[in-house]
Amino acid sequence: MPTLQILQQTPALHEALWWEPEANGRVHCYLCPRHCHICHGQSGFCFIRVNQDGKLFSLGYGAPAALQVDPIEKKPLSHFLPGSRVFSMGTAGCNMGCFFCQNWDISKSHQDQVRAKQVPPEEVPLLALKYGCDSIAFTYNEPTIWGEYIIDICKAAKPYALKTVMVTNGYITYDAFHDIYDHIDAANVDLKAFTENFYGKITLTHLQPVLDTLLWLHKETRVWVEITNLMIPTLNDDPAETRKLAEWILANLGPDVPLHFTAFHPDFKLQDKSPTPPKTLHRAREIAREVGLHYVYEGNIFSEAANTRCPACNTLVIRRSWHEVLENRLHHGHCPKCGQGIPGVWENLRSPK
Ligand code: SF4
Repeated sequence: MPTLQILQQTPALHEALWWEPEANGRVHCYLCPRHCHICHGQSGFCFIRVNQDGKLFSLGYGAPAALQVDPIEKKPLSHFLPGSRVFSMGTAGCNMGCFFCQNWDISKSHQDQVRAKQVPPEEVPLLALKYGCDSIAFTYNEPTIWGEYIIDICKAAKPYALKTVMVTNGYITYDAFHDIYDHIDAANVDLKAFTENFYGKITLTHLQPVLDTLLWLHKETRVWVEITNLMIPTLNDDPAETRKLAEWILANLGPDVPLHFTAFHPDFKLQDKSPTPPKTLHRAREIAREVGLHYVYEGNIFSEAANTRCPACNTLVIRRSWHEVLENRLHHGHCPKCGQGIPGVWENLRSPK
């Protein structure tokens, strides 16, 4: 897949949404559960929302730091337009502080530390179409923090029937949730662990707001949702924790939400941890399937568990190698052998304009 060339340019100031003025020129940003209170000349925790003279501005607006064409399986999404290309973009900054961040070169950078290109929202769908993509993904860093840009890109993409994807940590307030997700077709939400201890110490955030986002997505939107759990040796790979995570998904979201257990590689502040052994992912998958989840995948390793099988008759319906779809035997979203419906967004009804 091509990597697009990006050029250094001065970031533009775009007034943000989801903030209110406070005393002494401070502002309160309520886009994410951090609720930053920001003095003049300073940024919030995420670096790219800044207070200039008592107003909040988004430095990420129209200024992506990364543009790339990816297979949709890389997000990972296994039940959403399989085998298609997705135009993927990210900015600087992040609202979490994960010690294991695998994109820390942009997520831990300020806007002036990345090679950003000025790309207005209306140009994004044209680039996506130019590179043969069926969808646009907001990914690499946490997209919530550049929600204003995302909303405008989604509006620009609509006439072309391009689908839109959030690859997110799920750390957003209800105040902003519908403003963004009412424009979105699919999301992969990182459920990074199932303990408050991990979220507090390793990501510098909290677990409950992420669970709330998953519930809002399930109950209040038509967004297609998949979940990723990156397994880090000794930190979140305890089988009892995996069981609780899978049980929560089953009880609250149902058995058909795809769950991806993915392998960690040492990065950023967790260089001392070893890569996740494949057997850890196999064990986690076994547990989640025992609990009753129908679609449990393994990622970042070569595995038979990249394939999609019919939960009723075990027929192989989509065969994959890593991020590549080798064979898609689905028949209009149904198992070709027993006719069982396989939930997902399988067909692209887009007719390019
Ligand atoms: S989006 Fe950024 S500035 Fe706003 S509350 Fe979250 S971390 Fe703070």
